[in-house]
Amino acid sequence: MKWVQSSGSGGLHFFKRRMVSAMENALWKEMRLVACEVAQDYETEKRIRMASYSGELRCPDAGCCSPILRYCHGEILEPYFAHRENADCDYVRFEKNSGVFHGLRVLLYEHFKACDYPVELEKKVLPHHYSHLYFEWEDGRRTALEIGTKSTNVNDVVKLQEEYEKAGIQMVWLVADRPGKTISEEHTYFLKRFCLNESLKKDLIVIGYDGKHVTQYREDSYSYFVDGQEMVSEDYPKLFSYEAYLSDLYFEDGVLTTRGFEQAYSLFLEEKQLAFAAFKAQAEEEKEYFRRQYEALRGGREIQDTRLYADASSGEDYESRRQSVLAVIDQQERQVLDATGTRWGRCEFCGEVKEEAEFVSLGGRGRINLGRCKNCKEV
Ligand SMILES: [Zn+2]
Ligand SMILES: [Zn+2]
Repeated sequence: MKWVQSSGSGGLHFFKRRMVSAMENALWKEMRLVACEVAQDYETEKRIRMASYSGELRCPDAGCCSPILRYCHGEILEPYFAHRENADCDYVRFEKNSGVFHGLRVLLYEHFKACDYPVELEKKVLPHHYSHLYFEWEDGRRTALEIGTKSTNVNDVVKLQEEYEKAGIQMVWLVADRPGKTISEEHTYFLKRFCLNESLKKDLIVIGYDGKHVTQYREDSYSYFVDGQEMVSEDYPKLFSYEAYLSDLYFEDGVLTTRGFEQAYSLFLEEKQLAFAAFKAQAEEEKEYFRRQYEALRGGREIQDTRLYADASSGEDYESRRQSVLAVIDQQERQVLDATGTRWGRCEFCGEVKEEAEFVSLGGRGRINLGRCKNCKEV
């Protein structure tokens, strides 16, 4: 999938300014109000403004010491609730710390609301902690969605994981970062590694700060060995990535994923394994070719190949292969290859016989198998 400009209203919230410690939720007559929803309808907003004026709006935080809220909405600032007086309140602390995600939170909330999910925004389900988004499913399962970044530290993640587990709530992470980035599991920050290793399906979902683009990653857990050596492929990386949009995010059996991801991942694995099988077959064919060349040489027959093959019956380890070339290394008419196809040479300076990779220079007219090894570089 390629990136194209997405249409629709998504992203608008992100560009509007917002008060620090402004809140999205308030209580009014047992009702839970969400600021971005209040603003949608003129009549509703008018009623809430009246309620705000008469001091009827309350902070939803049970531990709040001055819980009277006001509703605010102007031309520059998006709608929000705020305490009338400075309050010692967990909700205020939460907003001060994670207000940077506010636009993203609202976009996600609106998206999941449109999916008809039982979603709540900024919900306090753990002591002193607000979940960015919270779902209470019909079958009784509960899910908390947390948004994190490269600054989210191991302590926060592990502490939350423990607390959610104790409360019987499933924790899901979304990582706010640049989507579409090529990453590898070993070379990324903690939260991404955590998702790739500890999330339910061992995948990672990255969402852009504009809330439009989403990339889902999952590591291929298979290993690809040929002759005891692990192979990697540029065409089929270890970490599979899949590009999607906010509108593709959905829950399947309680797991957050993107539409089309599972199919794309299966196809990727299938193609990768086919490509690997073909590669392996070719490697075996090559080995067989070297074996036949050597047989021909040993039988005194003329061969077309201008390279000289050492004893193909030698072992695969370094010393066995070195031994296998000793008998033919000191002629200067043909290159010498061992049974794995690796070229060998003799260092003119130290006299040792080594693999081609250990030379700084090797070969030349009348001295095909002579060179200077890396150890003798400074001589
Ligand atoms: Zn409060
Ligand atoms: Zn040397």
